[in-house]
Amino acid sequence: MTDARLFGDHFLRALPAEEQMTVQHVRALCASTLGPQAAEVAKQDVFAWETFRLLAREGIVATAFPRRFGGTDAPQRLRVRIIEELGRVCSTSASLITGTDLSSRAIVAGASEALQQQLLPGLCSGELQAAFGLTEPGAGSDVRGLATTFRRTSEGYLITGRKKFITRASTADWFVIVGRAEDTPGTFLAALVPRDAPGFTISPDVGKLGWFGVPIASLDLRDVAVPLAHRLGEEGEGFSLAQDALLRARIGHAAMALGRAIGAVEIAAAYACERSTFGKPLGEHQGVQWMLADMVTQVEASRALLALVADKYDRGDSDVATFASMAKLQATDLCMKVVTDALQLTGGRGYLQDFPLERFFRDAKLNQIGEGASEVHKSVIGRDLVRRARAAERHPCLREGSLVDY
Ligand SMILES: Cc1cc2nc3c(=O)[nH]c(=O)nc-3n(C[C@H](O)[C@H](O)[C@H](O)COP(=O)(O)OP(=O)(O)OC[C@H]3O[C@@H](n4cnc5c(N)ncnc54)[C@H](O)[C@@H]3O)c2cc1C
Repeated sequence: MTDARLFGDHFLRALPAEEQMTVQHVRALCASTLGPQAAEVAKQDVFAWETFRLLAREGIVATAFPRRFGGTDAPQRLRVRIIEELGRVCSTSASLITGTDLSSRAIVAGASEALQQQLLPGLCSGELQAAFGLTEPGAGSDVRGLATTFRRTSEGYLITGRKKFITRASTADWFVIVGRAEDTPGTFLAALVPRDAPGFTISPDVGKLGWFGVPIASLDLRDVAVPLAHRLGEEGEGFSLAQDALLRARIGHAAMALGRAIGAVEIAAAYACERSTFGKPLGEHQGVQWMLADMVTQVEASRALLALVADKYDRGDSDVATFASMAKLQATDLCMKVVTDALQLTGGRGYLQDFPLERFFRDAKLNQIGEGASEVHKSVIGRDLVRRARAAERHPCLREGSLVDY
């Protein structure tokens, strides 16, 4: 059986039949609506309500939530396929799904039963929205540097601090805020703050390069009173709840970047078939074939790594965080390179605004920065490798003492 698509469906065929149908449903939506509308949606950086409502109506937002609150509890092996399909045509759609993980995961994992009953059905159906407030003016890559404080009171906490780059700040009903206890700074906490809480201010949206349709803004919290019932998890669990949300969002970033890279190769390869230079189609020049060969080979390798990570997540493997860092690093750096090369291959055509690669090029950059910059993931992977190397079995070709005693 041959695949009609340039990139084969080998990973899709590995899914159970019901999950394959879900992906086919997403694929049909991409072909009929999300793809054709993507350029229009990304013209302005205002929240893409219509796209979000469509994704909610079609049950795609629900894939992030447990069944008992209306979700589908989709495994990561399915979610990466869904996000890849969305990323292939429309970064806005893909980021609305990965962003749902980022903003709602701490509520799924850490909210009380009563709070979950109150919020999760609405978040799942798209009637409510949440935002995730971790990054601060003084703490981005170094999240342990958070300065937002939680002061204990008889009823709960007073939160004071500033957050920046917060996606969906202009539309969210509830905000997950992460900080540290004022009197015991080693204790991280997370809590839910409603949009209309006294002392809570949200800035106007801040302009950015790409990822239009999911705007960002800053938050200012001055003695914002939060009842104990709105704390997520226990005191001291704020950091691990944030890491749990980031883990899922990182896997999503990798899937989105790979989807976009696949789309870019498809566009460049089609151009190489149609455009002729120096008397023959572009795709018959060896230099162009080699560029395309590098792209397709590296994208397939990266998809295999991501499929491995998704399985590790679904199995609950203890090394999934390091592998998620590898997949995000590999897929997002690759996407930037592939999109750059695809744009180069399409010449002046690729540079124009009515051609998708201009948008892909602007969108690709954030995947290398958000949810941990590539350099930070290299540090995570490298640190883990060195730690494990100390305890690892020695290579059989090494003699005792032969490493540093010469
Ligand atoms: C569009 C957008 C949406 C976002 N949405 C959210 C959101 O919803 N919620 C939220 O909390 N945050 C959000 N963020 C924040 C995002 O997660 C941070 O931007 C990211 O973690 C990097 O932090 P920073 O920008 O402060 O970079 P910095 O920490 O200032 O780092 C700058 C650069 O330095 C390099 N670097 C940093 N540390 C190291 C190191 N140890 N070794 C080598 N190089 C290093 C990296 O290249 C990095 O890009 C968003 C950001 C953007 C741009």
